[in-house]
Amino acid sequence: MKELKEAILTRGKAVNQDVLLVDSFLNHQVDPTLMHDIGESFAAHFKPLGIDRVLTIESSGIAPAAFTAYTLGVPLVIMKKQMSRIMTGDLLQTTVRSFTKGTEYQLTVKRDFLPEKEQILFIDDFLASGEAAFGAIKLVEEAHSTLAGIGIVIEKSFQSGRKRLDDLHIPVLSLARIISMGPEGIEFLE
Ligand code: 5GP
Repeated sequence: MKELKEAILTRGKAVNQDVLLVDSFLNHQVDPTLMHDIGESFAAHFKPLGIDRVLTIESSGIAPAAFTAYTLGVPLVIMKKQMSRIMTGDLLQTTVRSFTKGTEYQLTVKRDFLPEKEQILFIDDFLASGEAAFGAIKLVEEAHSTLAGIGIVIEKSFQSGRKRLDDLHIPVLSLARIISMGPEGIEFLE
């Protein structure tokens, strides 16, 4: 997606060869026009799969996922990283390793918000090792629904996540695929 690649090149910053900072338009300050266009791209691509619900992880996935869900006209469900006293009842939970923090955390969703026999679209800001996506896959399996597709805003194609997901034969759309990054610049896979 041209506008996204331009934003990465002009407003993103490779902290090192592994981590890209995109807090000026994606996950701290949010560019709503770009998120709208991202939502339209995901919605147009995945609509033929009959998506019933969009699933994401708090907090960085919420902006692109919300625009996608709005365009598809379906609910958005946010997997919570923090439990709270008011999260009670029948809960679905799985453990995920954080790529950026190197720690483990629990993902939690109320079973009521992931009913059985639905087609679920998972949207996230980044694909690195694929741990977050595998967390979504596990929760959707536990809910007895189908993970019909995965939409990623920025894929770091040089890390293991894409290969791990391709092995499962789940349709993946990444709007920008980075093949390398560092002080000398950012290169995309076309
Ligand atoms: P994975 O689970 O695929 O290893 O990593 C995906 C998650 O880690 C995303 O939800 C994202 O929040 C975070 N992440 C992974 N790589 C990056 C990165 O280069 N920059 C930022 N800002 N977040 C990342």
